Amino acid sequence: MAELEGLEFGKSDFVLLDEVTMEQFMDNLKLRFEKGRIYTFIGEVVVSVNPYKHLDIYGKEVIEDYRGRELYENPPHLFAVADAAYKAMKRRAKDTCIVISGESGAGKTEASKYIMQYIAAITNPNQRAEVESVKNVLLKSNCVLEAFGNAKTNRNDNSSRFGKYMDINFNFNGDPTGGHINNYLLEKVRPSRSNITISKYTVFLSFPFFLSLCHSKSSSQASNNDSLCHKAVMAALKVIGFTTEEISSIYKILSTILHLGNLQFTSDGEHVVLVGEDTVKHISELTSTEPENTRKALLYRTVATGGGEVIEKGHNEQEASYGRDAFAKALYERLFAWIVGRINSVIEVKDYNPALHGKNTVIGVLDIYGFEIFDNNSFEQFCINYCNEKLQQLFIELILRQEQDEYQREGITWQHIEYFNNQIIVDLVEQPHKGIISILDEACLTAGKVTDTVCLDSMNKKLGQHPHYTSRKLCPGDKTMEFNRDFRIRHYAGDVTYSVEGFLDKNKDPLFQDFKRLMYNSSDHVLKEMWPDGKMSITEVTKRPLTAATLFKNSIIALVDKLACKEPYYVRCIKPNEVKSPLLFDDGRCQHQVAYLGLLENVRVRRAGFAYRQPYARFLQRYKMTCEYTWPNHLMSTDQEAVEAIVNQHGFEDDVAYGHTKLFVRTPRTLFTLEQERAALI
Ligand code: ADP
Ligand code: MG
Repeated sequence: MAELEGLEFGKSDFVLLDEVTMEQFMDNLKLRFEKGRIYTFIGEVVVSVNPYKHLDIYGKEVIEDYRGRELYENPPHLFAVADAAYKAMKRRAKDTCIVISGESGAGKTEASKYIMQYIAAITNPNQRAEVESVKNVLLKSNCVLEAFGNAKTNRNDNSSRFGKYMDINFNFNGDPTGGHINNYLLEKVRPSRSNITISKYTVFLSFPFFLSLCHSKSSSQASNNDSLCHKAVMAALKVIGFTTEEISSIYKILSTILHLGNLQFTSDGEHVVLVGEDTVKHISELTSTEPENTRKALLYRTVATGGGEVIEKGHNEQEASYGRDAFAKALYERLFAWIVGRINSVIEVKDYNPALHGKNTVIGVLDIYGFEIFDNNSFEQFCINYCNEKLQQLFIELILRQEQDEYQREGITWQHIEYFNNQIIVDLVEQPHKGIISILDEACLTAGKVTDTVCLDSMNKKLGQHPHYTSRKLCPGDKTMEFNRDFRIRHYAGDVTYSVEGFLDKNKDPLFQDFKRLMYNSSDHVLKEMWPDGKMSITEVTKRPLTAATLFKNSIIALVDKLACKEPYYVRCIKPNEVKSPLLFDDGRCQHQVAYLGLLENVRVRRAGFAYRQPYARFLQRYKMTCEYTWPNHLMSTDQEAVEAIVNQHGFEDDVAYGHTKLFVRTPRTLFTLEQERAALI
């Protein structure tokens, strides 16, 4: 509860709304946005609205204001949350995490950067060189990951196409000693014109000399800014410790991807032929492979016959294009994964001896895409929304648990809070054998041509009775039936209709073994290292690789496990409009986000128990002038007794509980009354 803001800026904590209604919530959010107050608390959660303009609220003095202070002593801010997470980690030796969520363009990545900057600013007061160097690498790694992981999209000029979770390790002094990065779903599953998508990645826009190689229109957007970015990326790569050889390999791989984008196939009536042998030559030079082998991998695939014979089967035009795109995508994906792995090997904490250095604690920062509901929702939205169901579940569990812990610590009776448990939706998606992912995988494993629609039929049959699943196919007599390729999930955040088209392909995400082998046989060590699975010959490749959905599911389950054992802090980001305007608050769009971020529910949970709590001394300091026994100073033996005197004088006895160190107030109205009295006196 921020104390330094006047009421003309609205309520700085949504918990203080007169009533928890969407209308009141939105009025407050809008008022604050219009007054340039982009942050608002819900208890310890920060709600942030992207200002789409520079605000002078991240400087050194502001950092000093928040450093080491309690959450409610300052206006709501990311720094307040960063400091709370840091304090819990340092004072109570707790592992903490900051979960930042919201839709594309809502300001998540910016928020994660400010949080990192804050942590960097308040640590290592003695400027020890080795700590400074760790901090530098951690900050620089952001720049590299953004260059390689971000793309220019309609919704966001610098959209992260991956979810990122970064652990920062601290020693007993509270100084950073290292870290670890996990990334999730980097455009692994995009429509087949991957070369078009890929060339929009920041890293391509930023390498001017590559642009001459790439004839695709989207790349002509390169500007001075991009070449600056190129220099920054180069510098960052060097600071992190990439060798010249590695950097050169990275460039060659990027260039290969662009060349693949220019590679076309045609048919001479009988066979598929390559248009432009030159391109193949460039590709084999860049990848240090034999031109003949490269050509072969692009035009043929090796298959094992039933009798154990190995034959080369020519692609048709469609297969060749498909193979090329899958290859380009895989190159990019493996490059990104390799870069992350390489950064991790540099920042991982080495030689940490707990006996010598004390407990090693962690702050995790999660920057991950929020709920997505588009006009057309596909496999990507399905994965992302599943991830958000998991995070929502964790959110509710952890927030409730946190409340419960505090009540226990303070010796206050815990009261059960009603909330919607979305486990049923999580199960619908991930349950073994019965869930959507299992059904998809089964369809992918079935030999022969299983189409998306056949898979949909199977889902409808198995899930038709599920309360959170609907398919229009279930309504006999529906004239649109034959066009129906979709199913609907009732998510916690609302209904989303997914078009099943392309689901199977995206889930299989197959790459011909021939490409893997080609890369494994490259004489470029760095490239070879990225393709260990190319070692196998076709007859050895028996195990099917895990599907995209299952890989994603496994990584999200691992993520949730990691978060669950940490004390969580939340930043909920909202995008005010679709046109990147600092002036426009689009009511409909904002309300939609408030709904699917579950913010009203969050306020309710927070208010269901005790809306407000404060250490006795602080409460006293603020309200002592409202009571004759405490003004100017009280004569009682403890602060708690003095607080009791204030409470009794106002007749609030039934609305409060006394903890060991804090006063708990059930309804915000009590606070309003006190605030009003206080305001009248000063
Ligand atoms: P997300 O990661 O949620 O997709 P970003 O963090 O990349 O979104 O933000 C999108 C854009 O919005 C940024 O490039 C920046 O221009 C603007 N923006 C976001 N947060 C802020 C902020 N706190 N102050 C000023 N501009 C911001
Ligand atoms: Mg982002």
